[in-house]
Amino acid sequence: MNTLENNFKIVNEKIAAAAKKSGRSKDDILLLAVSKTVDIDTVEQAIALGQTSFGENRVQEFNRKYEVIGDKADWHIIGRLQSNKVKYIIGKVKLIHSLDSLKLAQEINERSMKMDVVTDALVEINAAKELSKGGIYIENAADFIQKLSVFDNIRIKGLMTVAPFDENPQNNRKYFAQMKNLFVDIKDKNIDNINMSFLSMGMTNDYEVAIEEGSNIVRIGTGLFGERNYSILK
Ligand SMILES: *Cc1c(COP(=O)(O)O)cnc(C)c1O
Repeated sequence: MNTLENNFKIVNEKIAAAAKKSGRSKDDILLLAVSKTVDIDTVEQAIALGQTSFGENRVQEFNRKYEVIGDKADWHIIGRLQSNKVKYIIGKVKLIHSLDSLKLAQEINERSMKMDVVTDALVEINAAKELSKGGIYIENAADFIQKLSVFDNIRIKGLMTVAPFDENPQNNRKYFAQMKNLFVDIKDKNIDNINMSFLSMGMTNDYEVAIEEGSNIVRIGTGLFGERNYSILK
């Protein structure tokens, strides 16, 4: 078994164990392999191992991979997305995880309308109010999401958060629990065109805790592909 295959095996086993702890099964959790900085060959190897969903955070890098791999994989955009880049991804991505402004929503809606598609998106929440990160604060989320219900060519499918980096993942448990509460609150409001199916939270350092608190999409890069080498992007 090579390193990549072994990493997938370990991560999948840990996902299954954490899912069980929260009364669910591994099939209830989507493993999103975060392939930013990972080369196309390695992504192809991951696909051969049975991995179906990949997350990218740079539009240009995503498009380079999409040109070669296309719809052999499901692509998710997970990073901060600028409005002027939206036109390059519509019709190609399965889910945008980082919707956090009305301006971005307007652009996604308009571009989707032009291409006659409906684009699925998650609302990004900044649970820990970190200034360095995007996302809507928890207390503003319900109002923001209400405003998104008017966009016919966007389908809101849930929430996403990036928890703070912390050596001890237990320190993020409170944020994950707050996210789950918000998710349930918004679901209970039954807002038109707003659907709470996915709760995207947990990365290499904290995905087991996130799953225990109710996550059903984990975004894992380093744990699968090793440390990132940003020089390949140059
Ligand atoms: C890079 C990235 C990840 C993956 O991080 P790892 O710690 O390598 O697992 C997950 N989510 C987002 C939004 C990212 O930018």
